[in-house]
Amino acid sequence: MLIDTHSHIYASEFDFDRDAMMARAFSQGVEKIFLPNVDLESIPRMLELEAKYPNNCFAMMGLHPCSVGADYKEVLNTIESWLGRRKFVAVGEIGLDYYWSKEFVEAQKDAFRMQCRWAMELDIPIIIHARDSLDDLIQIVSEEKKDARLRGIFHCFGGTLEQAKQIMDLGFSMGIGGVLTYKKSGLDELVKSIPLEWLVLETDAPYLTPVPHRGKRNESGYIRIIAEKLAEVKGLSLEEVAEVTTANAEKIFIR
Ligand SMILES: [Zn+2]
Repeated sequence: MLIDTHSHIYASEFDFDRDAMMARAFSQGVEKIFLPNVDLESIPRMLELEAKYPNNCFAMMGLHPCSVGADYKEVLNTIESWLGRRKFVAVGEIGLDYYWSKEFVEAQKDAFRMQCRWAMELDIPIIIHARDSLDDLIQIVSEEKKDARLRGIFHCFGGTLEQAKQIMDLGFSMGIGGVLTYKKSGLDELVKSIPLEWLVLETDAPYLTPVPHRGKRNESGYIRIIAEKLAEVKGLSLEEVAEVTTANAEKIFIR
């Protein structure tokens, strides 16, 4: 069994073949798919998909840093009310993104801290999006972490070995996806030095499609390609990688 810990398959890119795409994922052994929220518009689509596949799709709740704008406090009020209304598997995806815009950096930090605190109160993990912002995120997580309740995944990890060590010291795992199959990413060399116990698999569909499908839409069934590549890089069998990364993901999301 494989788990896709990060997949936006509720997105409109899948409106024309979502059930066929799900069937392909099942045929590849992908049994659980975790759905990160982005903004207020993505909520109904995400919950609809979860309701259709209640044993396979699991919704998170959170505000993506790229969706933090002038109105972020109001938006966060709505996100918080959702977290109080029903159970979600994680607060996500949340974080800091300095790549697309630096206009709302302070608001992004404020939103991130607030959402970290909600996750701690609810005792659920956080799923972190980092882009050109990893050191700041590691710093804020270490400040906010009062105890083991603050835990989760640095999704789409792309940092250095030193940053990976700091993340493991904080008790956080790292999400590995299609970038692992990109020739010049250097991620393959890096993951050799990170124990498998700290890694989980993710597609980030519809983005970051693994080779040989790069350039086309990504989908959850491709998690198997990422698992195979990780097995090759680490010199392990696909079964070992599947077993350990699945156990890692279940430990984070189900406690
Ligand atoms: Zn994402």
